[in-house]
Amino acid sequence: MDFDGRVTVAVEAPQHAALGTLLDYASEQPLAPGTMVRVPLGRREVPGIVWHRDAAAPATEAQLRPLAEVLAALPPLAAPWRRLVDFAAAYYQRAVGEMALAVLPPQLRRLDPAQLGRRVAKLQRLPPPAGSANVARPALTGEQAAALEAVAASAQPTLLHGVTGSGKTEVYLRAAEAALAAGRQALVLVPEINLTPQLEARFAERFPDRCLVSLHSGLTPAQRLRHWLLAHLGTADLVLGTRLAVFASLPRLGLIVVDEEHDPSFKQQEGARYSARDLAVWRAVDAGVPVLLGSATPSLETWQRVQEGRYRRLALDQRIGGGAMPRVRLFDMGQLPREKGRDAPALAPPLLAAIGARIERGEQSLLLLNRRGYAPVLQCGACGWKSGCPHCSAWRVFHKADRTLRCHHCGFTERVPRACPDCGNLDIAPIGRGTEKLQEQLAALLPGARVARIDADSTRGVGMLESQLAQVHAGEVDVLVGTQMVAKGHDFRGITLVAAVNPDAALFASDFRAPERLFALLMQAAGRAGRSAQQAARSEMWIQTWHPRHALYAALQRHDFAAFAASQLAERRAAGLPPFTHLALLRAEAKTADVASAFLHDAAALAEDQSGLAVYPPVPPTVQRVADVERMQMLLESPSRAHLQRFLAGWLPALQPLRARHKGLLRWAVDVDPLAI
Ligand code: ADP
Ligand code: ZN
Ligand code: ZN
Repeated sequence: MDFDGRVTVAVEAPQHAALGTLLDYASEQPLAPGTMVRVPLGRREVPGIVWHRDAAAPATEAQLRPLAEVLAALPPLAAPWRRLVDFAAAYYQRAVGEMALAVLPPQLRRLDPAQLGRRVAKLQRLPPPAGSANVARPALTGEQAAALEAVAASAQPTLLHGVTGSGKTEVYLRAAEAALAAGRQALVLVPEINLTPQLEARFAERFPDRCLVSLHSGLTPAQRLRHWLLAHLGTADLVLGTRLAVFASLPRLGLIVVDEEHDPSFKQQEGARYSARDLAVWRAVDAGVPVLLGSATPSLETWQRVQEGRYRRLALDQRIGGGAMPRVRLFDMGQLPREKGRDAPALAPPLLAAIGARIERGEQSLLLLNRRGYAPVLQCGACGWKSGCPHCSAWRVFHKADRTLRCHHCGFTERVPRACPDCGNLDIAPIGRGTEKLQEQLAALLPGARVARIDADSTRGVGMLESQLAQVHAGEVDVLVGTQMVAKGHDFRGITLVAAVNPDAALFASDFRAPERLFALLMQAAGRAGRSAQQAARSEMWIQTWHPRHALYAALQRHDFAAFAASQLAERRAAGLPPFTHLALLRAEAKTADVASAFLHDAAALAEDQSGLAVYPPVPPTVQRVADVERMQMLLESPSRAHLQRFLAGWLPALQPLRARHKGLLRWAVDVDPLAI
């Protein structure tokens, strides 16, 4: 085709959303799609990426403005990367330019051509790591060998299903080794930044002669740019990262691993609300490379795809070293004698005794309580005042360490009042129990025991999580109290007892995924205990419950994920929930709930008479008001993913003009495949 002096550029321009974000510019020479440029937009100059032109798009007739600059030092973003962005933008209903620019390292957008040229040249001259290629690797177990053979034989998406300690990471390492040997790059995704250092250490140890980089939001802007560039230039062989790494530019991609694929952290919760797990599968299929989804408790979406034969399941049923999963003991809290007017004790006496016995043997215990702070609410005994947040429809949590009331939604923090703000009564008391209080109670119940706590509060500072984990590993802690943060991933050798102090709430939560999360959390926590065979024999997981006969706990007791999944899927099928239907949520935020609702009602009116689509009335989310913003949401549901997609693509642009009609409407956004509804 003759060059007509026009190039199409993807720009990030939310305020120009009506224009779309693929704009034409004049250029003296043709530019390869994927080339980074800077272009004038309004009175600003913004970064952009030359995009393939949609043949169907009409040519702009107006006089085109010329490109400002071409960042020629950066090799173009390749077609597979642009396909991924095109897909993600279409699927999650965002503009292409917004999606493309949002997933690049922020610094890349700010550099001028000369600066970028210098950085790229420097990285291209980087000598390869000097490590030796001869590292010891364990001989594979039969299960591991079979899994690897299957992965080598076909690129069908694979669920690697095995409990903690079953050798999944070893399979990732070997699959990566094969990819690297074939001259390819491997991408490994983990749910949380906290989990990257230990995985990075294992990969670095195994591949000392390879360039390995991490990509996550904990890096400095300069590090992030450097790592991204190393991946993009093809210098990095291994890229490890959190969800944003799914968009790394990888010219030689040969393998994708998603560890703990069930983890909700893979879903981005703002902006383009993408699922990195789902995009990883799409990307791997598009590139024709294997994708390994690892988990002990796969998401029900993944499990259903296995049942349908779309994914294959490779099982690692044995723990390495022969350790069994700990015995699960359900303790019926209803059996405890209740003193009138007093709370149930934090720990049942038999559990306390079991912890005491471990302290005597020099073993460690882990107590899980998914609520940080001292108490979730303070209450006045005289007038009933409660520590509500003035800006949110939520209670403020009492933090005893610094005597504050803190809102966990908006962050609003005040000193605890001396007396009730309403009636002056001095007797205001904490209700309920968080990790701080549990730690305090344990210290009193187990005199002399070293009780530590790990949660978002205790690990706020840089390096604090690492130093606290190091204390646990060094055996300087007898009992560790923590939130779900400690249930994930960390490899504690000395723990032989794990207890869930108060897990029942999730059994009856309105969120339909709550049981799935609880099961995953408890299985994962159980996996913390007894990782060596001799420990496994006396390892226990305790569940304190008022519902000891609940089916979820029965399945947990048998370590029977398949039974749990089957019963959950049957319920989901009957209730018309994912993965049997497809959901999207339209969220609106406004100064008043009425405005948010009115906008959603107008939006619903535009969706009337759609066959194969259910539009539910607007409802408030669990916490309706956050930081003085009222929130409402409206659920859309369809049995067909494609149908829902087509509908959204036509409907959302029509909502833009509604905005003007609703004074006080702050924001609206669509969430495709929402995690919570
Ligand atoms: P997972 O990722 O499922 O938790 P890992 O791969 O970390 O399991 O394996 C658990 C432990 O067993 C690790 O210490 C690992 O080094 C070791 N391991 C894994 N595979 C083997 C093997 N084939 N032979 C000996 N040790 C192994
Ligand atoms: Zn009062
Ligand atoms: Zn608040």
